[in-house]
Parts: sequence; structure tokens; C-alpha cells
Amino acid sequence: MRRALLPVSCSLLLLACGDDAGPTAADGSGTSASTGETSTSSGSAVDESGTTTAPETTSSSSPPPDDEPVLAHGIRLTRLTANQAVQVELVRDGVEVAPADYNTRLISGRTTLLRAYWTLHADFSPREIIGRLVADYPDGTQLVQDFPLVVEGDSGDGGASFQWLLQPDQVVDGTLYRVRLLEADPEAATGEVSDPPPVLPLAGRGTLGIYTAPLEMEVVLVPVEHQFDGQVCTPQISEADVEQLARALEQNNPVQQAILTVREPMPYTDPIGSSGTGFSPVLSALAQQRAIDDPDPWVYYYGFLDPCDGFPPGLLGQAIGIPPLPPTPQMSQQRISTGRWFGSGLEPVALAAETFVHEVGHTQGRYHILCSGGEAGYDPAYPHPNGRIGVWGFGIHDFMLRSPTGGRDYMTYCSNEWVSDFGWELTLDVIAVLTDWSHAAAPPGQGEGVLMGALYDDGSESWWTAPGGLSTELATPGAAIVLDGGLELPAWVYERPDGDHVVQVIAPRPAALGSTSELELVLPSEAAPRRIEAARILDIVGG
Ligand SMILES: [Zn+2]
Repeated sequence: MRRALLPVSCSLLLLACGDDAGPTAADGSGTSASTGETSTSSGSAVDESGTTTAPETTSSSSPPPDDEPVLAHGIRLTRLTANQAVQVELVRDGVEVAPADYNTRLISGRTTLLRAYWTLHADFSPREIIGRLVADYPDGTQLVQDFPLVVEGDSGDGGASFQWLLQPDQVVDGTLYRVRLLEADPEAATGEVSDPPPVLPLAGRGTLGIYTAPLEMEVVLVPVEHQFDGQVCTPQISEADVEQLARALEQNNPVQQAILTVREPMPYTDPIGSSGTGFSPVLSALAQQRAIDDPDPWVYYYGFLDPCDGFPPGLLGQAIGIPPLPPTPQMSQQRISTGRWFGSGLEPVALAAETFVHEVGHTQGRYHILCSGGEAGYDPAYPHPNGRIGVWGFGIHDFMLRSPTGGRDYMTYCSNEWVSDFGWELTLDVIAVLTDWSHAAAPPGQGEGVLMGALYDDGSESWWTAPGGLSTELATPGAAIVLDGGLELPAWVYERPDGDHVVQVIAPRPAALGSTSELELVLPSEAAPRRIEAARILDIVGG
């Protein structure tokens, strides 16, 4: 039910969680027994910490050097892939994959790693081979990028590879591309050029198919100022922390950028760690704060918590809901979640970022993915077993690779969390719609307002109104808000994800709320209606 504490859940679940180690450097070192070595003269240099630096373009807007390049002998190219977070096959067995058949979409304006794999003839002698990428852009410019590699054995399944890193402005729809392998020193060549030769695609230049649209996420981070028991406990979020959180979101989401801002702290005076109701009451307070602030409908709110009375045991974060897809401006009150703050600095923020990506994922419409077995309400459509990411993952900021079997979808409760091809496609459509609104001349209307109620496990409730609207198809059969005049309003009733059985009620805000003295909540699970005192409703929209 809840988002379990990672160090606990995954130390217990190592067998279920990880088939192999976590992230590896982008040259595949550590993943293949017979990897080549990257030359440090150019190309993606891999330092000892396992990160790569961007290769320098050997030339741009100019043809390859005049010296006739000699195709490499005794080596065949088999596959070419592109990776912006999840791997996309561009060429398989020498044949171009049509963009319509890509396993996920590639997006414009995002760092992209191309990788090519090879097999060797028996008489191949280890030596330096140059992988050359030639890209011809629709505007007539050309990019030539060389990647020298000492080749000693086959590249295997996704380990060592020839690599070319494209900068965001080099990822353009309709670009014609071809890669070939050349002898670094033609004198050292042995054997014959293979048949077919080491060129991809074999038949001629391939065409990159790129989804071209602005893709952004806007998140307001809310430090919760916990005033409790004579203390004040507030997360101190530095600029570097914000940058790190933005990068985590960007690595796991199909965006060109995540725009994060830190709001002024939100005071909160009730217990949190000792409340017995998880983060749910503070999540309701965040929902009320978002309604008061009334940001644009595409904006996510995320509360960071460092409570004076500690954390509720085992709970990392919670989201207010999983909105239906496609997203609508009326569901703006669903873009709210919260999670633990472990402190400023690389390691604590990395831990907080995992929960951040997961909880924001819920508010993007994502359900859990089954891995540990503890994930309630999981998505049955997920295509890979045990929550595996299924294809190679690549970090556009940390330049690390995640293996298809070692990485787990970030909506699981397992470790080595990463975005899957499934999650990438699903959130891309959501992000595209929200970004569309943000780029429109005027923000879309959000409806007449909603009445929201949170029913906690301990019997307490809170009620407020917020911007938004409820479409009738979301209404839960048998649920309603009944006004004292007898008017019945439909209500959407669901259990919040990662929660303590907290029931969330959303109904249209009654137009006559100001003159209504009593309301009743009818739930399909309860024989008698619950009375709601109108005076106890925080009417933010009407106020
Ligand atoms: Zn969750």
C-alpha cells in the first residue's frame, strides 16, 4: 500500500529486485567480458569514476577528410541503437527500422547516445578501429563524428559498443545517418572486409524519426515548515539540490527540461511522524495550499518533509491520486504529492529524488509496476517481467547505462530504479498535453471548482474546495454529495496511492455552497450517509 522505505524493502528483496549490478559506465565496462578499450584521444572518454564526457565533434558542416578511408577488415556491424533514457533500435541486422516501428519515440532537443554493435571474424587481430557517424541534416549541414576504439572481442549483447553522443540541437527529425567502421591504421589491417561490409544501414542512409514538440515539466517544490513541540523543522533546499532534483526528473522523463522552483515554506502545525495517518493530512494541506496559490493547471506541487516528530515508519512519500488519462485542466488538483527530505547534498538528495520521481509519476497517471510484490494497484499492462526496464537505459546527465535486467521501473518498490520504455511512452503523451497548455496564448479554464474531502483511517476528515471540475464519467457508482435541498452531485471516490487507506472524495463544488448548511456524503461502502458540516469546509474557491 505504502511506498516502503527503500533501504529496508530492497535489502530484503535483492533476489527479487536485481539480476545484476546497478548502473555501469556508458562504455559498457563491467557488463561484457570482451569489451574494447576507449581511446582517450577523442570520442567518449571514460574516466575512472565511470562517467563519460561528451565526445568532441571531429568536424561539422564539412565532408570527411580527403584521405580515402579504409573500411575495417574482419569485423561486421550488426545493430545501431539510439538512447535518450530508454534504448530504441535504429538498425537491426543491417536493416533500418522504420520510425513508425520504433519501440519508443525519440524526442527532439534531448541528448542522445548512439551505439553500434559488432561481431568479429576468427582471424581478426585486436587493434584500433574507428567508428564514423555521418549525419546529414535537413538544413544542409553535416556532422561527422569519429569514435576510436581498441577492439579485442565481440561486443556481445549490449555491452561494449561504438558510441556517438549527439547534443540536444543535433537531434533533428529527418536527419539522414549512416555509420561505418574504418581502419585507424590501414597498414595494420588483417584479413578481408566482411561481406556485408561494416556499414549501417547496409542499403543506404537511414532517416531519423524524431517526435518534435516542446516537452517540459513545471514543478513547485514546497518545503513544509513543521512547527511542532516548540521546534521548527524545515527542509533547507539549496540551488544545487534543486538542480539535482531537476536532473533526476529529466533523466527519467521524456522532456527537454524540467523547471523546478522552490516556494516559500508552508507552515504546518499538526503531528506528522506521530500522526498515525502517514503523510495524508499534510498532503491535504498541500492540496489546500495549491488551491490557494492557484498556479497554472499544468504545475505540479511537491512537498518536502523533515518533520520534528520524525517520519512515519516505512513511509517514503505519497501522492494525492492517479488522474485519468489523457490529462485535463479540470484535474489540476491531482498534481500534488509529497515525500521525505533527507537533507541537502548529493547522497541524501539522490535518495529523496527516487521518491520524487515515483510520486510525481503517480500524478502523471502512472500506476505501480509489480516487482517486490508490495506494490498495490499495479499496472497489468506492463510488458516486462519483475518490473525490469526491459531495454538498456541511459542517463543524459550522469552518462551511466542501466541494464535491461538490472534496472527496475521507477514505479516499482525495488532498487536500481529507472524509466522503462513503457513508462516513457505513457508519460510522453501526458507531458505533451501539459506543455501544450503552457505554450498556448492563454491557460485553459479549469472548470467551476471541486469539493474535495479526505477521509482518514482514524475517522477524521478534512474538506476544502479547489480549482478544477469533475467529468461525469469519473463519478463512482453509488457515491454522491447530497445538499440540504435534496440536490445530488456525482462524486469520484478512490483510495490515495501509497497511503494508509485514505479515501479521497472529489465532487463538483456546489454552486450554492455558501448558502448550504448541511451536506451528506453517500458512499457505496457505507449504509448510512455521512454528515458534512458546511461550516467546516474550507471554501478556497468561493472565498
Ligand atoms: Zn507509489
